Amino acid sequence: MQISEDTPCVQCGYNLRGLTQDKSCPECGTPIARSVLGDQLRYADPQWLERLRFGTSLKLWNILIAIVIGAVAAIIGGLGLPQALVELLALVGAGLGLWAAFLITTPEPRVLMREDPINLRKLVRACAVASVLGQFSSHAQRTAAADIRVVLTIVAGVLAVAGVVQMFGELVYYRRFAHRIPDARLQKSTTIVLWGLPSAFAALLIGGAIVKGVAILVGAGIGASSGPGGPPLGRAAVAGGVPFVCAGVVAVLVFGLWYIRLLTSYRKAFEEAAADARQFGAPPTAAR
Ligand SMILES: [Zn+2]
Repeated sequence: MQISEDTPCVQCGYNLRGLTQDKSCPECGTPIARSVLGDQLRYADPQWLERLRFGTSLKLWNILIAIVIGAVAAIIGGLGLPQALVELLALVGAGLGLWAAFLITTPEPRVLMREDPINLRKLVRACAVASVLGQFSSHAQRTAAADIRVVLTIVAGVLAVAGVVQMFGELVYYRRFAHRIPDARLQKSTTIVLWGLPSAFAALLIGGAIVKGVAILVGAGIGASSGPGGPPLGRAAVAGGVPFVCAGVVAVLVFGLWYIRLLTSYRKAFEEAAADARQFGAPPTAAR
C-alpha cells in the first residue's frame, strides 16, 4: 500500500510519502511498516528511548545527590569542615541536572523534521541553562563584595524562577510521553504534580524572598536595633514569610516524593518501550 500523506521515518525523519509499506526507508533502511504504526513509544526509535531512560535515571540520581549535599552541608556545618566540598558536590549536582534535562529533551528523529522553531523542548533547555547560571550566582554571592553581592542575589533569585519554569515544562513534556505509552493514570498523576511541585517551590521562593529582602533592609539600617522582639519591620517579615516557608517545606516534601515515584514509573516505561522497540525494529539482515 502506498503512503499518501507526509510520514517521517521513525529512525531518521526522511519523508516516506509516495513509498510502499513493504519496503525499507531509502535513507536508513528501517522497515517502513514501523513508521506508519502511530506514535506509541514502543514503535519509536530505540536509541532515542534509551536516552530518555538514561536521562530519567540521571534525574533520580541528581535528587539523591541533592539530598546528600543537604546532609553533608549540615554535618560539615556542625564539624567545621571546609565549605569547598559542599560547593564541589553542588557543582556535580548542577552538571548532572543539566545533562539530564538535555537527554530528556533529545529531539525525536521523526519529529525534528517539522519542529516549530520555538517549542517546549527548547524552552526546557533554555530554562535548564538559566537555572544552572542562577545556582552559580547564588554560590558566588557568598564570597562577593557587598555591592556585587546584592546584584548577584537578585540575579540568583530571578534565575531560580527559571528553575521552577524548567520543572513545570519538564513535567508537561513527560506528560506527553504518558499519552504515548499510553498510560492514562500516569498522565493524570503527572498533571497533579505538574501544578503541585512548582507551586510548592514558588511558596518557598516567595517566603524566602520576603524574609531575605527584609533582612537586607534591616542590615542596611532601615528599622535598625533588632532586639529579641525585633523591630516592627522584622516582625512583619516573620509574620509574612514564615507561613509561606512552612507551607512550602511540607508541600515540597509531599510532591517531591510523588515526583520521585513518577520519575521511577517513566523510567520503567521507557525501558520497556525501548526493549519492545529494539525487538520490533531489529532490521531483517537478509532484506536489504
Ligand atoms: Zn529512515
